[in-house]
Amino acid sequence: MTKPGYRFLIIGAGVSGLTTAHALSREFPGEVLVLEKEPEVGGLLRTIQRNSARYDLGSHRIHKAPSEPAFRLIQEVCQDRLVKNERGGKLRLRKSYIDYPITSFQMFRGLGLLESGLCAVSLLRHRLIASLKDKSGLTENDNYESYLMRRAGKRAYRLFYEPYARKVWGGEPSQISTTAVKKRISMLSPTLFLKDMVGHYTGRSKNSFYYYLKGGISGLVESLARRVRENGGEIVTDVGDFFLSIEPGAKVCRFRADCPQTVRFDTLITTIPLDESLMKLAPPAHILRQIKDIKWRGLRLVFLHVQGEPLLEGESFYFPELKYIFGRVSVPKRFDPAMQPAAGETAITCEVPCSEADNLWTASDREMFDVCLASLRRAGLVTGRQKALTEKNFIINLPKIYPVYRVGWEALVKGLLLDSARRFPFVYFSGKPGLFLHNNIDQSMEIGLMLAEDILRGKAPQEWLGRLDSFHNMKLRD
Ligand SMILES: Cc1cc2nc3c(=O)[nH]c(=O)nc-3n(C[C@H](O)[C@H](O)[C@H](O)COP(=O)(O)OP(=O)(O)OC[C@H]3O[C@@H](n4cnc5c(N)ncnc54)[C@H](O)[C@@H]3O)c2cc1C
Repeated sequence: MTKPGYRFLIIGAGVSGLTTAHALSREFPGEVLVLEKEPEVGGLLRTIQRNSARYDLGSHRIHKAPSEPAFRLIQEVCQDRLVKNERGGKLRLRKSYIDYPITSFQMFRGLGLLESGLCAVSLLRHRLIASLKDKSGLTENDNYESYLMRRAGKRAYRLFYEPYARKVWGGEPSQISTTAVKKRISMLSPTLFLKDMVGHYTGRSKNSFYYYLKGGISGLVESLARRVRENGGEIVTDVGDFFLSIEPGAKVCRFRADCPQTVRFDTLITTIPLDESLMKLAPPAHILRQIKDIKWRGLRLVFLHVQGEPLLEGESFYFPELKYIFGRVSVPKRFDPAMQPAAGETAITCEVPCSEADNLWTASDREMFDVCLASLRRAGLVTGRQKALTEKNFIINLPKIYPVYRVGWEALVKGLLLDSARRFPFVYFSGKPGLFLHNNIDQSMEIGLMLAEDILRGKAPQEWLGRLDSFHNMKLRD
């Protein structure tokens, strides 16, 4: 049972909301309430239990060299559940697999001498033309396509950057902003190529590892949630829809239709998708129109089961080309054997990017299982003789996963956030969905920690938003 009022109300018990709750509840025991719509905490870091096995929501790990304050907290709360694994990723490039994370040198090996040569000629040609026109760097009028054509050359662009963009974000690459390049794309360059080649032959490029949690990535959020409760914070799950009523002198939140509850709050922190948060704040008509321009890309996670083992070693496989339906595939038991104790079979998680209402989103589960299995076979990960264990298969749909950074998104998002900060100087937006970010676990935690620090120092939402550019400039690791 909740109390009548709290100093801090946090919407969303993903890793960002829980990190802020942890920091605030240490300073103000009994004054933090977290509301979560799902039955469990964790957001994207939930680990699903089914078929006597455990499944993360896609390939999840803590990358090497994480943000220091975030990693200190992870070590503090997770203690002996934290393990360090060797990385075994692979990327499918034309007919072969190369090690992932890729290097320019690996790319050269995957493409072969002729194709690499053609890409290099195209790159040099485009760079030369650009420098003659004095347009080597990023310009204000650039988009994903124009910038990458110039920086990587037309041939490499058509070969992988273009299909990759169409798969991950959907739609025309010329409509996508250069933010997508800055956040996610590793660029081909002659200097990088030489550096990678030296690294390859001296063995310096090996030594790739990641951190994981015994029993699934949810170990992190479960440990955080336990600490929040030990600090006297409260977390309510399965809240259903919630409603805010903001009158002078009374800020109130109502939730749980089955057993209605009402709480007062002083400060609101929201980590749910930006458009949904804004809708809860009774927007005027002109803001309502702008909110509709915020676009997301979703994911269908298809959990397939086959007899035997995948034909390749490694825990994650990346597929930038359009002929494969998924962008990434992972094998949970290779993150931790305890994820799938049954012998003689393998669960494979296929991440299929799509948008609500498109053909892939509305395809039946049966069609998705068939098309994913066919793609796995075409990719040479599973043979035609490996029997599918269809009775164990299932799908989870995640509608708002990747922010679609269309040209002009920055002005739209900043405008909406600043407008909210002016009208509601007690509402802070945070986390990946709340700030329209495409980011990593440790980055969401770092943002969660910074927010608690800013609030404790008395900084208003407008000052908090001064940090927005730096959050969007954080480079994503895959
Ligand atoms: C497939 C995939 C793989 C990834 N792999 C990695 C990886 O290997 N390494 C890495 O560092 N990062 C990875 N990431 C990114 C990582 O998952 C995120 O950065 C991180 O989990 C974001 O946490 P968050 O708290 O900011 O957002 P979320 O986890 O989205 O939390 C938001 C919370 O709000 C809740 N919520 C939403 N609406 C409501 C509502 N109306 N009422 C109440 N609650 C609500 C949600 O249920 C959720 O719990 C991956 C992401 C994806 C999609």
